[in-house]
Amino acid sequence: MRLKSRKYIVVLGSLMSGLGKGILTSSIAKLLQSKGLKISPMKFDGYLNVDCGTMNPYRHGEVFVLDDGTECDMDFGTYERFLNIDLAGKNSITGGKLFKSIIEKERKGGFLGRDVQIVPHLTDEIKAWVKKVGEEQDSDVVIVEVGGTVGDLENGYFLEAMRQFAAEEKVLFMQLTFVPSLSEGELKTKPTQHANKLIQSMGIHPQIIVCRQDEPLTREAREKISMFCNVPVANVFDDPLIETIYELPMILDRQKMTGLLLSELGVEEKDEDLKEWRALVEKIKNPKKEITVAITGKYTAVKDAYVSIKEALVHGGAYNGAKVRIKWVETSEIDDGKATAKELLSGCDGIIVPGGYGSRGTEGKIACIKYARENRLPFLGLCYGLQMAVVEWARHKTGMEGANSTEINPDTKFPVIDYLPEQRGVKDKGANQRLGAWECRLKKGTNAYGAYGKENISERHRHRYEVNNDFIGKLEESGLVVSGKSPDGNIVELIEWPDGWGVGTQAHPELKSRLERPAPLFVAFVKACIEGKK
Ligand code: GLN
Repeated sequence: MRLKSRKYIVVLGSLMSGLGKGILTSSIAKLLQSKGLKISPMKFDGYLNVDCGTMNPYRHGEVFVLDDGTECDMDFGTYERFLNIDLAGKNSITGGKLFKSIIEKERKGGFLGRDVQIVPHLTDEIKAWVKKVGEEQDSDVVIVEVGGTVGDLENGYFLEAMRQFAAEEKVLFMQLTFVPSLSEGELKTKPTQHANKLIQSMGIHPQIIVCRQDEPLTREAREKISMFCNVPVANVFDDPLIETIYELPMILDRQKMTGLLLSELGVEEKDEDLKEWRALVEKIKNPKKEITVAITGKYTAVKDAYVSIKEALVHGGAYNGAKVRIKWVETSEIDDGKATAKELLSGCDGIIVPGGYGSRGTEGKIACIKYARENRLPFLGLCYGLQMAVVEWARHKTGMEGANSTEINPDTKFPVIDYLPEQRGVKDKGANQRLGAWECRLKKGTNAYGAYGKENISERHRHRYEVNNDFIGKLEESGLVVSGKSPDGNIVELIEWPDGWGVGTQAHPELKSRLERPAPLFVAFVKACIEGKK
């Protein structure tokens, strides 16, 4: 640790969800990181699920996977993309994890003779957890984002724990709020005042207030918030609508957030700044080229379901100096006979078939992959995308008519994709897929090797099925390239087409893509799209 004592920041959301608390948390973390401090971002989620593994991305957004296999909230993706660090499952506290651990402790006799209470037992557990993460990760500043909104029943006990914590440690509270405007752009601060009163009634005094609004935050609005919420005017910040989320650290820095954070935390000002980050954001904002990429997906109605892929395209695009437009393609339209692959992919320079589960829209995905292969449209298959590419190849290049994944058709004559052996007989649904970081060896001379530039790689996974080893001989004989395998040679990790740029990976490389370190396969895919367009 570089500081004499560890500091804590707690970010609270007020009034409503969807204000971008994760992006704010990541941005202030970035500002402090840019000053050479080591940051541990943490998130509390009040739901009673132990993790996000069983949640539907259509309702809750993407399930993000960490190296250690934890399936967590998509905000962890934002933290990692901003901070370029690998987080651990411990950084995620859920109501489910907390109650599970306290009940397990009680059953083992950990509280013998006592009634187990929210205060102090659960709150002690929370404080100890937050402290332990800081210690284990040797961080200077632990930043805790509290999921949900102040006033929710679900996060009440967590806020109580943080109130107590502030008496023991140096804790800075930050309130994110919304300042609506009515006619003629008049900003209304009253909702913020009431929300602030609610927070203060819990014994918590936010020292910094960050305001989201559609109009620029006026001097008058700042002064009102300052007066009614007990903070200096300089502690009220404008969090405006921006072109790219990666710009928020600079926007806050321009308002002197970095200096304020350091002085509130009692840390000396340092020289380092956001120079490199700024240059990358400039690249995003001033692209020299533009491409359009089709993404086929079942959850196309909710774009949050694919946030890591969208961001990996921003990173890969910035690296190539290109803006990547996305055309969402609902492949069930092909299954239902409403459209053809050619129609859906018209105007696209490449196609991504992302991860997924179940059979809806799969015939359409296979049709899109066939179209891409035959028309030399760059293709990137992610997990399910690799599996569908293998099915497509088997059906059309090896004569295995009706080949399929047993996830879709358990009775297929050619089960080219089948259960991973260890997945047979698994009944529970929580945290039991092949999860987290797994190593892979790439074959030299392949497109995959060209993208990574090395033989040994590691990417994050989340799947139950794999390429069936019984069919590898036939697939390879007909020209499909197996470009990566697990170190023991048992699991096909990457495949590619012999011609053009078509790569499928069993992993989710999008989960490890960061602005400062874009995912190699996305960089290479975007490059192939740009070259194909010429
Ligand atoms: N449904 C497939 C499997 O379980 C793919 C999963 C995914 O794309 N993440 O293997």
